[in-house]
Amino acid sequence: MGKTLFGLVGPVLVAGSFLIDAGPFGPTRVRLEDGRTLRIPAETHAFYRMLTQEGRLHGKQGRPPTAFEVEAGIRLRRRHEALWTARFGQRPRTPEAAYVFPVVGGWLPARSGYTPGHRAEDLFAPPGSQVVAPATMLIVHAGYLSKTAGEAVVGFVPPAPAQPRARYLVLVHLDASPAKAKVGEVVEAGTVVGFIAAGDEALVGNALGRPPHLHFVIREEGPDGRLAGVPVWDLLQQALQRARHQAAGSAAGSGQGRP
Ligand SMILES: [Zn+2]
Repeated sequence: MGKTLFGLVGPVLVAGSFLIDAGPFGPTRVRLEDGRTLRIPAETHAFYRMLTQEGRLHGKQGRPPTAFEVEAGIRLRRRHEALWTARFGQRPRTPEAAYVFPVVGGWLPARSGYTPGHRAEDLFAPPGSQVVAPATMLIVHAGYLSKTAGEAVVGFVPPAPAQPRARYLVLVHLDASPAKAKVGEVVEAGTVVGFIAAGDEALVGNALGRPPHLHFVIREEGPDGRLAGVPVWDLLQQALQRARHQAAGSAAGSGQGRP
C-alpha cells in the first residue's frame, strides 16, 4: 500500500510543469475511495478538459467545450508539436499498420466496446501487466489524471503526411507506481510506460471493482481544433494479430535452434 501514496507525488508534480495555461481552473482536492485525499494541480484539470472537451473519457457526455478550452487545447498542441520538433525534428511517425498492442499478454473483447458513452476500448490483463506505447510518442502526462481515469499516461503524436491530424494516445487505469514513462521524453512504440492496476486499487478511477484492464483512448484533432475520440477496435485487433504472429514466429524460431 505504501507505494501508492508516494508513487503519486512525483508524477503529479511533474504534471504541473507541462506548459499548459490553467486558465479558469484552480487546484482541487480529490477524496479517494480509500479515504485518502490528493491535491490535484490546476494544470491537470486544464489538461483533462482540453483532452476530453466534448465529454469525459468515461461515462455520459458532458457539456460542449467552451471557446477557452478549444483555444487552450490548440495552443497546447502547438507547444507539444514545437517540443517534439525541437527535440526530434522530422522523425517519422509510427504508421497505424505498425501500432503495437498496448498491453503485453492482454486481450481484446470479441466485440468493440466503443460507444457514444465510452469512446475507448477496454483491454483486459492481470494486474502488473506491462503497458507499452502503441506508437512513438512524446509523453505529456504521467500520473493522476482524473477521478474517473485514475492514473494515466498520455502521449502526443504530432501530425505527419500519412496521419495529418495530431493525436493523443491515452492509457488509463494504470497502477500508481512511479515506474512510468517521464513527461518530456519520447518513447518508441513498444516501450513500457506503466503497469495495469489491480481492479480494487483506489487510484484506478471507475475501473474500481471491475476486472483489471487498460482503458485505451485515441483523441484526434478535428478541422475545428477540437479533440474527439476515434474508434480503435480495428486498429487494436490488427495490432494483436501481429503480436500473436510474432510470438508464434519467435517460439518456432527458438524451437528450431535447440539440439
Ligand atoms: Zn473503459
